[in-house]
Amino acid sequence: AKGNGRNSYCFFHSDLNDALTRKVKIENELRRAIERNQLVLYYQPIVDLKTGQPTGVEALVRWFHPEMGSISPAEFIPIAEETGQIIPIGDWVLETACKQNLAWQKEGLPPVTISVNVSVRQFQHTDFIAKVKNVLETTGHKPALLELEITESIMQNVNESINILKQLKDIGVKTAIDDFGTGYSSLHILKKLPIDTIKVDKLFIDDITDEANQPIVKTIIDIGANLNLRVIAEGIETIEQANILTQYQCHFGQGYLYSKPVPAEMVPGTFRGQIK
Ligand code: C2E
Ligand code: CA
Ligand code: CA
Ligand code: CA
Repeated sequence: AKGNGRNSYCFFHSDLNDALTRKVKIENELRRAIERNQLVLYYQPIVDLKTGQPTGVEALVRWFHPEMGSISPAEFIPIAEETGQIIPIGDWVLETACKQNLAWQKEGLPPVTISVNVSVRQFQHTDFIAKVKNVLETTGHKPALLELEITESIMQNVNESINILKQLKDIGVKTAIDDFGTGYSSLHILKKLPIDTIKVDKLFIDDITDEANQPIVKTIIDIGANLNLRVIAEGIETIEQANILTQYQCHFGQGYLYSKPVPAEMVPGTFRGQIK
């Protein structure tokens, strides 16, 4: 038994070591990722559930490293948040997404909303509002066609966050609460937030075909409607899920059923092949 314990300790120890080494490597490599052109934005359509027609696209960052391969944002974004690298990365994402949206319009696509993920640290940074204004001015992107997605964790500093949200509203930029229902928010705080959209987390959509879970999703959608918010369901993979959501008066959705996140040049194609 003693021997076993020691073996498993050694095994665990080396696993932990590998994980640490990878994390340090990611931290270091991330510093140069932008200048080395390793970051790319992919885009996932957000569709009108009735027509299947895209009404917007969400920008999702991808990191292609020459040796480490493709590294998921679920892995490197939390590290970037920890080290502060999220600030330059976030700036790059915002600017690239706005420029891309304008490029599509020049190509003749109907105007769509571009949704950009913003981490708490970025959102609460002193320069954030100035940076958003600056990107809109220098690119000429319409404020109303930009939606910033933030998570419920901003509510740990409610008053400060409300203040930032108000300033964004004054500029004319839209805001969304991402991963809605998984986090911190209580309903009385939600009511006070000057936001435009809630995105119902994939977690709730995954088991929506199980009747026991339907009242929760229905309630979330009704709350959004009662607060005059746009409701987007995330992670729709099947037609059954889409049908239930439409039945519940959820108007917008996103998920592999419609399209996976794709490179910029493939976005125009998602406006033609439509699912009803
Ligand atoms: P998120 O903002 O909640 O984005 C949704 C995630 O679900 C994306 O993963 C997307 O590819 C995936 N997804 C969409 N539809 C489906 C579906 O039908 N089935 C399944 N299984 N998955 C689906 P992704 O691109 O790996 O991004 C993961 C997370 O990384 C994002 O979650 C977001 O929190 C973060 N992230 C991505 N890009 C950025 C960025 O530019 N800035 C910041 N701050 N965070 C980002
Ligand atoms: Ca998002
Ligand atoms: Ca989400
Ligand atoms: Ca998420």
